[in-house]
Amino acid sequence: MSIYEKIDSYIDKHLDQSLNELKRYAAQPSISAQNLGLKECAQIVKEMLEKRGFVAEVMATDGAPVVLAERKGKVDKTILIYNHYDVQPPEPLELWDSPPFEPQIRDGKMYGRGVSDDKGHLTSRLHAIDAILAEEGELPCNIKFIVEGEEETSSVHLHDFIAQNLEKLKADACIWEFGGVDHRGRPQQYLGLRGICYVELSVTSLSADVHSGVGGSIFPNAAWRLVWALGTLKGSDERIRIPGFYDDCVQPTERDREFMDKLPDLADEYKNRYGVKQFIKGIQGGIELKIEEVFAPTCTICGLTSGYQGPGSKTVQPAYASAKVDFRLVPNQKPQEILKKLRAHLDAEGFSDVEIKFLGGEPAARTDPDHPFVKLVVETAEEVYDAKMDIVPMVGGSGPNYPFVYDLGLPVVTMGIGYPDTKAHAPNENFRIDLYAQHAKHMARVIKEFAK
Ligand SMILES: [Zn+2]
Repeated sequence: MSIYEKIDSYIDKHLDQSLNELKRYAAQPSISAQNLGLKECAQIVKEMLEKRGFVAEVMATDGAPVVLAERKGKVDKTILIYNHYDVQPPEPLELWDSPPFEPQIRDGKMYGRGVSDDKGHLTSRLHAIDAILAEEGELPCNIKFIVEGEEETSSVHLHDFIAQNLEKLKADACIWEFGGVDHRGRPQQYLGLRGICYVELSVTSLSADVHSGVGGSIFPNAAWRLVWALGTLKGSDERIRIPGFYDDCVQPTERDREFMDKLPDLADEYKNRYGVKQFIKGIQGGIELKIEEVFAPTCTICGLTSGYQGPGSKTVQPAYASAKVDFRLVPNQKPQEILKKLRAHLDAEGFSDVEIKFLGGEPAARTDPDHPFVKLVVETAEEVYDAKMDIVPMVGGSGPNYPFVYDLGLPVVTMGIGYPDTKAHAPNENFRIDLYAQHAKHMARVIKEFAK
């Protein structure tokens, strides 16, 4: 039996053990948006790592603690693995088929809040480490973990934390928190993440709500003020109207287009999955859709609230209105610059009464598709997944990869248990157990081949 046959058989044989460990981990609510259960969850992470012989510590930040861990290996080369232990709020609860914090296995999938994003990724990786340790007694190279608790709230303190702990985090390569297969079951290598700038815009126009028969014709209305202000941010042509917003945008290269061109056209898939009747900006599909989806910056109203929203009518003039807005950024836009431009724009448009609260952000960052570590991860995937890994130069989502790429100088690769129906952030979040095992097998190969 080859070493990989032995490792694979260990992973399959002890799968239940790993899934049970994940069930306990995912049963601990750890909702960063509500500051719920974070310390308790960090402690669980520390204990899971210590169980594998890692030297682990829970380190304080101005927000949720970060767990750092390290175990030395045979060769003095280091892989840094990034994960997060926080999860999204589980609401709306009535749409779950089983309670979000009581993970359940049904039809070859595990359901529960955080089982895919991102707790299952961590335990699947630990399972790979268990398999290597069981077969070889030691790690082939050094492995470090950084597991934070604020990823779902934009990792507000992570950049500073990394900047303050460069020595502890020193490594040669980094494995990102997520990854997975596409709708055809082909593993995907996501090499870039868009940045983000998340704000809450609010207007307070009165000291309290007023009868609309009294105030309607003479008092300013917070909801209208906010709607008008929001209306200045983007035109119906989808062009963002903040002056200078597009100044720093870097266009995709010919190489990016080549990679994007090889990816499947998801136009129909999107239409079926999300009930989209037509894409915006007149996009039909093909390369145009692929490029716009990830290489264009956005301005999205994520939530909007003001006044009375219960049943029937209530004639009232709201004193307060607020909206959550996110801007997805492309290289080389910077969140702080966007904030400045947004403030200047609102002032210039006569909306100095609109308050901006910055809720977090980070710039975009990318890894070179030609980096040897990328090649290693892509090549080792083929044996496990029986399919070639696709190179995706950029994806639409965001994450704190910027300090890993720029402060730590690491190539950042993605691999994981994700698949298109994983329902991360939504009710009935789940992962497929077969993909969980495959990720562990891929992980074991990456660790071993990297050490060579
Ligand atoms: Zn998430």
